[in-house]
Amino acid sequence: MSDDKYTTERITAVHPWTENLFSFRTTRDRGYRFVPGQFARLGVPGAAEGSIVWRAYSIASAAHDEHLEFFSVVVPGGQFTSRLARLRQGDAIHVERRSYGFLTTDRFEAGRDLWMLATGTGLAPYLSILHDFHTWEDYENLVLVQSVRTQAELAYEDLIRGFEGSEYYGEYAHKLRYVRIVTREPVEGTLRDRVTKLLGSGVLEENVGLRLDHERSRIMLCGNPEMVEDSRKLLVGRGFRPSRRGDPGQLAMENYW
Ligand code: NAP
Repeated sequence: MSDDKYTTERITAVHPWTENLFSFRTTRDRGYRFVPGQFARLGVPGAAEGSIVWRAYSIASAAHDEHLEFFSVVVPGGQFTSRLARLRQGDAIHVERRSYGFLTTDRFEAGRDLWMLATGTGLAPYLSILHDFHTWEDYENLVLVQSVRTQAELAYEDLIRGFEGSEYYGEYAHKLRYVRIVTREPVEGTLRDRVTKLLGSGVLEENVGLRLDHERSRIMLCGNPEMVEDSRKLLVGRGFRPSRRGDPGQLAMENYW
């Protein structure tokens, strides 16, 4: 990639959540623009002298933040994430000037309930979307479903709970319904089954207290590709229509690997 296609930023903070899960912040070029829900392409030095390895990463920070924030797993043996995980404050990271992706609310017909279903690091784009005031103004209800394997992986839980009582978002916070799913150990107050099973059985709707409905629900899926595909099939089977370029629908999705 020619070097006018990307800028070189610095890591400003690294936050480990578990041994294999971490978030990091970078400086942000003043010209960098994105719509909440989109992803950036990040580059780190590759094995060969002067080479750069690139990967897509959803942006977790708000469009109005001066920094960029990302949420990552360490993929065992992964070329990119093993290098990324070694980066420390002050290290350089490349960011492509363009942002990408269609997991954005502007792809939807107007609706009343926004459902955001995530597994693992698929939570990231929703954090950006939830920091956009339009999201809170445009919808009556926001449903955030975070599915992880263990309690320790419930990253960002405090931030999500912190909308309530926040100086900026507090007046809207009653709109948010936050559902945690922990699949591999019992945790009080959380659901245990996979999100696909909970969707299929109707238990998720029961738990949230809202029905999935063509008129009112707009649904986003992000994370494990099998989860995205299985949920998509299930929802298409119930008559939901994926958004397409120039043709707003009720479903939008992003695979994570
Ligand atoms: P994960 O396996 O995606 O699990 C996170 C949550 O999603 C768990 O609650 C899990 O339930 C659930 N889940 C998994 N598959 C599902 C499916 N088909 N339908 C419904 N729910 C499903 O865990 P992760 O930690 O985010 O990622 C696991 C591994 O994926 C990583 O260690 C890494 O190797 C790889 N990964 C790669 C990339 C990449 O960029 N290459 C990015 C993210 C992850 P269960 O406990 O029932 O499985």
